[in-house]
Amino acid sequence: MTATEAGQLDPVSPRTANLAALLRALRAGPLSRTQLAARCGLTRAAVSGLTTELSERGLVRSAGLRGGGNGRPSQLVELNGASACGLALSVEADRFAAVVTNLDGRVVAERAETADVAALGLHRSMDELAFLARRTLLDDQPVGVTVSVPGLVDSAAAVLRFAPTLRWRDAEIADLLAARLGLPVAAIAVDNEANLGAIGEAVDGVGRGVRELFYLSGGLGVGGGLVSAGAILRGARGFAGEVGHITVDPAGEQCPCGRVGCLETKAGLNAVLRGAASPGDPLHDPALGVDGRVGLLKHRVRRGDQRALAAVSELGTALGVAVSTVVDVLDPDVVVLGGYFAELGEWLVEPVRRELSARPLGHEPACRVEPSPLGTTAPLRGAAYLAVERLFADPTLVPATAEEAPA
Ligand SMILES: [Zn+2]
Repeated sequence: MTATEAGQLDPVSPRTANLAALLRALRAGPLSRTQLAARCGLTRAAVSGLTTELSERGLVRSAGLRGGGNGRPSQLVELNGASACGLALSVEADRFAAVVTNLDGRVVAERAETADVAALGLHRSMDELAFLARRTLLDDQPVGVTVSVPGLVDSAAAVLRFAPTLRWRDAEIADLLAARLGLPVAAIAVDNEANLGAIGEAVDGVGRGVRELFYLSGGLGVGGGLVSAGAILRGARGFAGEVGHITVDPAGEQCPCGRVGCLETKAGLNAVLRGAASPGDPLHDPALGVDGRVGLLKHRVRRGDQRALAAVSELGTALGVAVSTVVDVLDPDVVVLGGYFAELGEWLVEPVRRELSARPLGHEPACRVEPSPLGTTAPLRGAAYLAVERLFADPTLVPATAEEAPA
């Protein structure tokens, strides 16, 4: 991850930038001061002063000695994981979720609750989300909060511009949550769930070590996010990756957006469920929630239910057409099928690969197609990563205390 993800922070001093460089280097594991100096392009004396300051802030600590082979054993420094935490929140059509991770990315608390978010409306939803956040944080004060939302997000302004499934427009999520949580507005970032899913996969999932990753997110709508060299590619207005309205069937159904045959008319969850079962079938029961209905669909496909199989096959073809267009334009290393597509991955990956290999540019096997190993948790994982990223961009957010022992 690069500093671009901390775009809302003020420019930092050279010393703070060096503190940040050291802290980032330690994100991969303990290092000696000599190794830190080499990785960060600093002198060993500078590293000494900087690690002392990080230690005074409680962010790093001594990690014992490493045998030095022929030389002297060297003193290792590591992140003090418990010294700070980040909060990830998500708003989905049928639930709220909260995850607290510490500095080294370990999940320390998580909670979720079901809700009809559209029926609650924006302000009551923010009350519920803040209440859930407080119960998950207990007494901890997060260094950053990242909120995952389904819809078009102006991330620079931390405003959700439009979420069709929630029927929210110009929702000032960061302001509303800052007031409810007693945190500065600058500590709260808001992003589209597919962008955060892409980050989650790049950091913790199938995209580790990959440079260009495209994440396709299946839910009531269909979204996409692109991560390039560790940073989200947002486009001029922040709406890059919105693939739900790519035309996949010119003779298809009218889409609520006004066009015909959009990917969402074929791959949105309700469209697939309508294809898989008649009205009145339990597949359409909102009480089951999104996960419950997808689980039931999967069960039927596995059992060989012809109508369910046909619906999922049609979904695979539609995804293949859309992904081919994406791959022609973006040429990613890997396409990750996320959201509910991940649950159905065993029936979707092959049709998508087939469609790609039939293309004139012959993307097989250069571009991998993988189901998301993180499933529906990918956006929260990405949000948690970016929440603590705020501290990795500016370690001075945590004040120095007198009690910490030097590293
Ligand atoms: Zn459309």
